[in-house]
Amino acid sequence: MTPTREIFWNVADVRTTVYLLAGVSLVIALWGTLRHYRRWRQGKEGKPSGHFFQRLKFLGQFLIGHERILRERYPGLMHLSIFWGFGILFLGTLTIAFQEDILRPLFGSTILQGNFYLIYGLLLDLFGLLALAGVVMALYRRYVMRPRRLDNRPSDFLILSMFLLILVTGFLIEGLRLSVLKPPWSLWEPVGWLFAKMLGTLWTTETSQTNLHRVFWWIHLMASLGIIVCIPFSNLFHILSSSLNVFFRSPRPFVAFEPIDFQKGPPFGVNTISDFSWKGLLNLDACTRCGRCQENCPAYLSERSLNPKEIVLDLRGCMNGSSRRKSPLSLPGDVISEDKLWDCTTCQACIDVCPVDVDPYEKIVSLRRSLVMEKAMLPPEYKKIMKNLEVFGDPFGAGSLIREDWAMGVNARRFYQGRDIETLFWVGCTGALYDERTKEMTLAAAKILNKAELDFGILGKLELCCGDPARRMGDEYIFQKIAKQNVHTLKEYGIRRLVTYCPHCYNIFRNEYPPLGGIFEVVSFTELLCTLFEEKRLKTTSKVDGLFTYHDPCYLGRYNGIYDAPRKVLEAILTSNMKEMALSRDRTFCCGGGGGNFWRGKATGRRLEEVRMEQVTQSRVDGLVAACPFCEIMFDSAVRQRGLENSLKITSIVKLVHQATESVPFRS
Ligand code: SF4
Ligand code: SF4
Repeated sequence: MTPTREIFWNVADVRTTVYLLAGVSLVIALWGTLRHYRRWRQGKEGKPSGHFFQRLKFLGQFLIGHERILRERYPGLMHLSIFWGFGILFLGTLTIAFQEDILRPLFGSTILQGNFYLIYGLLLDLFGLLALAGVVMALYRRYVMRPRRLDNRPSDFLILSMFLLILVTGFLIEGLRLSVLKPPWSLWEPVGWLFAKMLGTLWTTETSQTNLHRVFWWIHLMASLGIIVCIPFSNLFHILSSSLNVFFRSPRPFVAFEPIDFQKGPPFGVNTISDFSWKGLLNLDACTRCGRCQENCPAYLSERSLNPKEIVLDLRGCMNGSSRRKSPLSLPGDVISEDKLWDCTTCQACIDVCPVDVDPYEKIVSLRRSLVMEKAMLPPEYKKIMKNLEVFGDPFGAGSLIREDWAMGVNARRFYQGRDIETLFWVGCTGALYDERTKEMTLAAAKILNKAELDFGILGKLELCCGDPARRMGDEYIFQKIAKQNVHTLKEYGIRRLVTYCPHCYNIFRNEYPPLGGIFEVVSFTELLCTLFEEKRLKTTSKVDGLFTYHDPCYLGRYNGIYDAPRKVLEAILTSNMKEMALSRDRTFCCGGGGGNFWRGKATGRRLEEVRMEQVTQSRVDGLVAACPFCEIMFDSAVRQRGLENSLKITSIVKLVHQATESVPFRS
C-alpha cells in the first residue's frame, strides 16, 4: 500500500465552493494591496540604489536568516517560529494546489505519495508545531508580559487568535482523518497521530468523527481565508511591505542624505505627504509597530517628547488618510510638533535596531529641512548657529583669524605655506575654537602626530566647519555652500588624505562629501592611533592608572562601525582592563549633543548627558574616556552639574595617549 492521502477527503462535495471562496478572498486581498500601492504612488519619483542582485541578497538575509530580528532573542525566536512555521505550511498548501490543479488534470499524475508523502507529512507536522509555539509565545508576550513598547490593538488579538485557530483545527482535522482511516504510516504525522489517539477516546464512532471533521475543516478553511483577507488591512501587511522595503533599501550607511538639487526649485524638504519619495512612503508602511526604535531612542528614554515609533505611525496615518484627497496638513507643525523634531540627536539608534529598515531619523531630518528652509521656523539659538556658519564659517561665530591659535607652540605646518604635505589634520570647529579643554585636546593630537613622525599639516585659517550641524539641523543650503567651499580648498591644495579626531567631521567627509565631488581618503584619529601602536610608531612610557570606561560616540560607532580600534588603543595605554558599560558598542547611549542639540536651549524631559552619567556611575569607574569633542564637553558639564568632578574624571582618548607615550624614531 503506497503512502498517500486523498485530498478533500470527507469534503469532496464542497470543492467548487472552496475555489469560489478562495477566489473572493484573493480578490479582496488584491484590492487592499492596490490601495497601499496607490498610497505609495503619491510620493515623488526615486530610484532604488544598489544593484538588483545586491538587493536580492539583502532580502535573502532578512527573510531566511532573520539576522536583525534575532538581535532580541525572545521576539526574534518568536517571529522566526511563526515565519518558518507558516511559511512551510503555506508551501505545503501550494504543493497540494500544484498537484490537484496542474499535475493531475494536465498529466494525470501525483507527487504526494510514497516516501515524498511521508516526509511531507512529517515536515508539515513539525513546522505546524513550531508555528504553534511561536503564536503562543506571541500571545504570552503581548498579553502577559506586556512590554511597554507594544501597543495592543484589537486587530492584533484577532490575528493571533485566527492563527491559533488555524493551527489547532489543522491538527484536529488531521487527527480525525487518521482516526477514521487508520493508515499504517500514521506515525509519520506524529502530531496528527497524537490528536487521533485523544479524539478517538472522546468520539468513538466513525460517523461522529467524520461529522466533527467536517465542522473543524470548515472552521479551518474560513480562518485561513480570513487571514488572507486581513493581510492588507492589518499589521500583517508587513509581510509584503517590510520585504519590499528591505529589497529597496539603500546600502549602508543608512543615513547619508541625498543632496537637494536647488536648481529644481521647491519643495526643499518634506512639508506634505506627497513630498516624500515613493520609497519613503513604502518605508512608513513597512513599520511593524514592534517598538524597538522607541525602546532604544535616547531622547524617548530621557522623557523628551520624541518617540520615533509615534513619528512613523503618525506619518503613516497621514498617508492613509490622504489617499483619497490630498492632505492640507503641514506635517512639521500640524502633525509632528516642532519640539519632537528638535529632540532628535541624530544618533541613528532607531535605524540600527529597526528589524525592517524603517528610518524615523531620516524622516525627522526631511521635516526639519522644510521647517528651516521653507518656513524659517527654528529655535532662536539655532538661527544664531546658522548665521554664524554662514558669516564666520563656524557655529561659534569665532571666525578664521583665531582658528589656528591652538597650534602655537606645536610643529604643525600650514598647507597655505607649502603643498608637499602627505596628510591633512582636519581639526574641526570644536577642537580649534570651543574652549581651552578642547584646544588642549587638539594640541595633544598634534603632538602625537609629531611623536609618530607623521608628515601632516593643517589648513588653519582656511578650514571651515565641515557642515555637519547645518545638515543635521535641516539647513541643506548652508551645508552645501560650506561643503563645496571645503571641497574646493582641499582640491586646490591637492589634499587626498585627511585625518580627523571629530567623529562628525569624519562621518560627513567619508559618507556625505562624495556626492558633492569630495572624494578623499578619510581616516579616523582612533584608527590612526591603533595603527601607530600596531606599527610600533608610538610607544608607551608610563601607562595610565585607574579604572576607565569608554563611551562609543554614535558617529564613530553606529555610523561607521569603529568599535575595536579605540578599545585596542586603551588596552595599550591603561594599566587595568577597561570596563564596559551595559550600553556600549552599537547599543551606546547618545551624549545628547548631536543634531544641533549641543546648542539647544530649554527642552522638555531630562538632559541625555545626565542620563548617560547615571549609567557611567553605575559602572563604578574612575573615569570615562570620550573619543568625540562633543561627547567630552557634554559629559564634562553633566559631571560638574552633579558635583562629581572629584570622583569621576572625564577625559579623551587623545589626552590619555599623549600622557602615556613618547616618540619613537621612525624608519620607514
Ligand atoms: S536618531 Fe536617535 S534620537 Fe533621533 S529618533 Fe532615532 S533614536 Fe531617537
Ligand atoms: S520603525 Fe522599525 S523599530 Fe520602530 S516600531 Fe516600526 S518596525 Fe519597529
